[in-house]
Amino acid sequence: MKPTHYQSSEFGFDRQRISRAALQVVDGLQSAGFDGYLVGGCVRDLLLGKVPKDFDVTTNARPEQVKKIFDRARIIGRRFRLVHVRYHGEMVEVATYRADPNRGGKKKWLKWAKNKTSNSGRITDDNVYGDIEDDAVRRDFTVNALYYDPTSEQVIDYLGGVADINNHCLKMIGNPADRFAEDPVRMLRVLRFKAKLGLEPEPSLVEAIRKHRMLLEDVPAARLFDEVLKMFHHAHGISSWHELRQTGLAQLLFGQTIEVLEQENDRDYEQFILSALENTDRRISQDKPVIPAFLFAVFLWGPFSVRHRQLCVENKNTMQAFHQASDEVFAAQSLQVSVPRRVSTPAIEIWELQSALERRRPRTIRAILENRRFRAAYDFLLLRARIGEVGQDLVDWWTRIQDVNGEGRDKIISQLAPGKSTRRSRKRRSPRKRKPVSGGEPRGSS
Ligand code: ATP
Ligand code: MG
Repeated sequence: MKPTHYQSSEFGFDRQRISRAALQVVDGLQSAGFDGYLVGGCVRDLLLGKVPKDFDVTTNARPEQVKKIFDRARIIGRRFRLVHVRYHGEMVEVATYRADPNRGGKKKWLKWAKNKTSNSGRITDDNVYGDIEDDAVRRDFTVNALYYDPTSEQVIDYLGGVADINNHCLKMIGNPADRFAEDPVRMLRVLRFKAKLGLEPEPSLVEAIRKHRMLLEDVPAARLFDEVLKMFHHAHGISSWHELRQTGLAQLLFGQTIEVLEQENDRDYEQFILSALENTDRRISQDKPVIPAFLFAVFLWGPFSVRHRQLCVENKNTMQAFHQASDEVFAAQSLQVSVPRRVSTPAIEIWELQSALERRRPRTIRAILENRRFRAAYDFLLLRARIGEVGQDLVDWWTRIQDVNGEGRDKIISQLAPGKSTRRSRKRRSPRKRKPVSGGEPRGSS
């Protein structure tokens, strides 16, 4: 395969956007006589005129050789060994060219070599090293298989990725069905690159996703947690959600949520999710912090509310029903996308605060305001008010009380009638009219 070399100046490629640490790592590798290139998403983003979120470097040096070149380097990973190099507090990931043992013309040789244990240092453990060409074809999309040499300022393109970037087209390297079978997470990557970069997937990709979407069930739930955050915490949550809904992948990530949306044809709840995603996108583009707990509190609020009401109807006391419903809903969620406790606990706290915010018991107000989840719970209440689950007057009250201190605050609190609940009757339909949602049984257990 003969690569095409492009001079990066042809594309208005902004070199200033490359991290100094990444440039120094490449320079270190090249000075030691090895190849050194920037690769993958960072080259793609620079060609698209975007600011890359991280920089990956690739080389023909083995991890041990890379480690020797840099003072602050350590080898990580067991299956695929990479080197993390630190420079000026920044971390650059250096990967040795890899080949895909299941693909390409060298397939047989590689399999043979693997079974024969290591020879010529080409194969060690599960690392199948290759040359730059092997490394290009094992990547997922043509636009992600571009190499940039900062010294010659050239982009090296083996698979037509530059033309695809110019045409805003997302093309798989190889056959989409096979590549999805190898790693179904690539389906989510298609949606993410469409949502985030406006790259239009070629029709065969979309078709293959529709056909093979169930493959996503085989991906470990913990890996999907990371992918979900990448989809929703990079300022393109709304478009990612639309893509997930259209392709049916949402069902495989948030089955309970989709069940409520579809069984109940619950427009309010869909609007609630969309408003939350819109807020999150806005906060991220303004560099404000966002927490995964809020996202999961939003996605699971529907299933939680339905289950909670069911349990209350079954005469469970409210607290018991609350704990049972939240435990069940998170347990079922974790069978699809596992949610670590550090995320589910604050999400449940956000839900727990909702009834306290609605009740406004005078004696509890100060403690609520000091609760570390207050801000998130208040934002959550705002979203609920938008779909009429609580009154706007309630939200306005909580907005006002945050703005005053001391006597002003005491005065507002004293105006609340003690013991009187300020809860507004729910606009939502009564639980009796609702169909049960998966009975709270963990998904996949039936
Ligand atoms: P992002 O902007 O999200 O960082 P990215 O393309 O850089 O996008 P990374 O996860 O950082 O994504 O991966 C870096 C590179 O590694 C990709 O550009 C691609 O070449 C390769 N890669 C990542 N994940 C896969 C995968 N599942 N299959 C094949 N190649 C992959
Ligand atoms: Mg990246």
